[in-house]
Amino acid sequence: MTTTLASSLRTQIDRRHDDLVELTRDLIAFPTINPPGDAYQPCAEYLGNRLKDKGFDVKYVRAKGTPGDSDRYPRINIVARREGKHPGPCVHFNGHIDVVEVGQGWSVDPFAGVIKDGKIFGRGACDMKGGIAAAIIAMEAIIDSGHDYAGTLEFSGTVDEESGGFGGVAYLAQNGWFDKSRVDHVIIPEPLNVDRVCIGHRGVWWAQIETHGRIAHGSMPFFGDSAIEHMGDVLHRFERDLYPALAARLTDMPVVPDGAKQSTININSIHGGQDERDDGALPAPCVADSCRMVIDRRFLIEEKLESVRGEVKDILDNLSKTRENFAYTMTDLFAVHPSMTDPERPVVRATSDAIHQVMKKSAQIVCSPGTYDQKHIERIGKLKDCIAYGPGILDLAHQPDEYVVIDDMVNSAKVMALSACTLLGGNTDD
Ligand SMILES: [Zn+2]
Repeated sequence: MTTTLASSLRTQIDRRHDDLVELTRDLIAFPTINPPGDAYQPCAEYLGNRLKDKGFDVKYVRAKGTPGDSDRYPRINIVARREGKHPGPCVHFNGHIDVVEVGQGWSVDPFAGVIKDGKIFGRGACDMKGGIAAAIIAMEAIIDSGHDYAGTLEFSGTVDEESGGFGGVAYLAQNGWFDKSRVDHVIIPEPLNVDRVCIGHRGVWWAQIETHGRIAHGSMPFFGDSAIEHMGDVLHRFERDLYPALAARLTDMPVVPDGAKQSTININSIHGGQDERDDGALPAPCVADSCRMVIDRRFLIEEKLESVRGEVKDILDNLSKTRENFAYTMTDLFAVHPSMTDPERPVVRATSDAIHQVMKKSAQIVCSPGTYDQKHIERIGKLKDCIAYGPGILDLAHQPDEYVVIDDMVNSAKVMALSACTLLGGNTDD
């Protein structure tokens, strides 16, 4: 009796346990911090060299002229493609190689890949180098299983996801790399937990609001007009009118965690008056003639960007009418529309079935509170068969002492291998 494809893949992946751990640690060791976009090239080449050894055709794509791209910090993406013996669909794994800044509060070296209690610690362990490593092991297991798959396995390691993805997936999509003629199904191993399939995300609108005042001597504030006090009233109106309205608006999208099922707004920053000086000198006593605030509004698939924007503008326009000398400007910084893949699409079903097969429980279908590169694949690439699925734990992303659980990586690699083989037309029944 011959062993089934499914059990052969699982065996292949179990054998690669140590390789998976070392691959993850190697990836963590590249300090691909964004901004500024450090070590992108060596990290991309490391991935490219590994995949070349497995018969992939490897291309490096520099996103020339995109935000942050320079000779010192080139935006280098890697795309690796391996066609099977027979024609068929293409399953594409995409992972971002950039990580966010380290921040304070670490108990271990964030780039040493420390192993403790069955976990690998490091900046990017969870978001998302552990996921990239699991996807690569999954593809290598398919190749080494000897399965004569029909179609193509493809991987892209992309940059700048943490700063909007413009030099990464957006650039590749604009240049045809995600066209329907070459890619059919996309799995992005972002950290959404090993037993969940993520089908999309809420939308984002960032804007800067500036209130204007008139400068005067700080000892005689009555001769000026404080932009900070005007902004205080904006905050007050937000708390009084906007926050309750947003909290009452719930989505039918399966967003996790529960708190993100409603519309939300965060005030990312606020600054009024003169800049703080870093030379220790005291600022001069002046009434602030400007106060700027950056807002981060996350919106639901049931909302339209225009109404999201209009709701904030209405509050400001109302203040213009009712508050003496109130003047403001509002500038859009960027916007991303919500994205949601139909749960009946093949990649969702294949991955859910594989989770059930590997983990013996039903997959949870979720949406992400924040955005990720799916937006570019859907909006620019026009590709509808895309999910995020990976081993990391969502709540740990961007935190100090970020880690990925090794068993979760092994399980997710099995899920990705089974799912890919199903999508490539293989029989993955036990
Ligand atoms: Zn991520």
